[in-house]
Amino acid sequence: MDLRYDVLIVGAGHGGAQVAIMLRTQKFEGSIALIGDEPELPYERPPLSKEYFAGEKEFERIQLRPAKYWDEREVTMLLGKRVVSVDPAAHNVVTEDGETIGYGKLVWATGGSPRMLPIPGGDLPGVQGVRTRADADAMKAASETAGQIVVVGGGYIGLEAAAVLRKAGKRVILLEALDRVLARVAGNELSRFYEREHREHGVDLRLGVCVDAIEGETHVTGVRLAGGEVIPADLVIVGVGIVPAVEPLIAAGAEGGNGVLVDSLCKTSLPDIYAIGDCAAHENHFAEGVVIRLESVQNANDQANVVAKGIIGDEAPYHAIPWFWSNQYDLKLQTAGLSTGHDRAVMRSDPENRSFSVIYLKDGRVIAIDCVNATRDYVQGRMIVTAGLHATPEQLADAETPLKELLTLAHSPT
Ligand code: FAD
Repeated sequence: MDLRYDVLIVGAGHGGAQVAIMLRTQKFEGSIALIGDEPELPYERPPLSKEYFAGEKEFERIQLRPAKYWDEREVTMLLGKRVVSVDPAAHNVVTEDGETIGYGKLVWATGGSPRMLPIPGGDLPGVQGVRTRADADAMKAASETAGQIVVVGGGYIGLEAAAVLRKAGKRVILLEALDRVLARVAGNELSRFYEREHREHGVDLRLGVCVDAIEGETHVTGVRLAGGEVIPADLVIVGVGIVPAVEPLIAAGAEGGNGVLVDSLCKTSLPDIYAIGDCAAHENHFAEGVVIRLESVQNANDQANVVAKGIIGDEAPYHAIPWFWSNQYDLKLQTAGLSTGHDRAVMRSDPENRSFSVIYLKDGRVIAIDCVNATRDYVQGRMIVTAGLHATPEQLADAETPLKELLTLAHSPT
């Protein structure tokens, strides 16, 4: 065997980097290496559809840490290398170029690759997914010369890309298969608000449409819809989710499917192998114990911290509150909790003001909050979601009363 590390982290993204950072912060003295298939040192992914795509931030400014940081802390970076197999019994991995690397503990932090469209022409040049710096650079270069751009998918990434492109004056058509945008992550009220905003900013937003094929010989020329209409396009941006990068681990015998299954300490079913971040399927406390995968920086970082502490013998289960953000035009959306399964949504302030919140309830308990340009609600909303506050819709809708006061009311003797 060529090399061995006490902690070997596969995936040099948000979660992987945070494991190394936390281990060194906690004074772990063993050897640590990160193997990543991208050529870059770990960087922030969210700006790829926001400030970096818009040309407002240079790449250096989105690196998680400068090169010096990793050198000083003796974290070995094995970049441009892809792990293709894992041998849990021998405690080693093999890379695409045939190198065998041993480990004491293995952390699988590989995220996922963009789900592409399984239709004719879905892999033509000019059809672009968004996950890496290389993807964002390709999308940016292509958009500069493109006359008309079709975005497929009305989730966060598609909407953010559309907002950047409209700001740059591009003609944008956004296609969503469901009857509203953000259907997977937010309630109806928020979807309708964002649909209005995008239309007012000039996006040709079409809901409930099915894409049948991508047209073109050597490069995309258009998008054919189920009804036969062909929308001309010089660039097609696809934002329809990810496929978790877990094949080598599943092939090695780890439990899972849509992600690797982990317990509350982020341990997989294989000895000495953890998994974190977008690729880790876990029972989430805020989803009432349902097994889910979360795709967020918060989840990657917090699970990384659970693993690092577990490795140094300070085990504590993962119970962090999910939170998320999205920037589109001048709208800053901040979310805490998970709204899936809510039975009531309460508006706090009028969306017309472009500063409001939506609070989600289930059986009278606050389970999530979406805040648009409303940071105070977000900060206090996290507190009421964490507490699982029971409050009436009238109390929650009263924007004059700070949310944290409802906590005090709930705890004061009657
Ligand atoms: P990643 O950060 O994706 O890192 C995984 C790394 O592992 C990658 O470099 C990958 O190439 C590498 N890898 C995969 N397989 C292998 C292998 N076999 N061998 C070696 N290396 C491998 N989240 C938010 O909270 N807020 C946002 O606003 C937001 N915006 C986003 C915008 C975009 C465009 C994208 C793509 C994501 C966004 N996210 C956002 C999601 C967030 O970036 C992810 O949840 C986060 O990066 C997950 O971290 P991770 O460590 O699990 O995976």
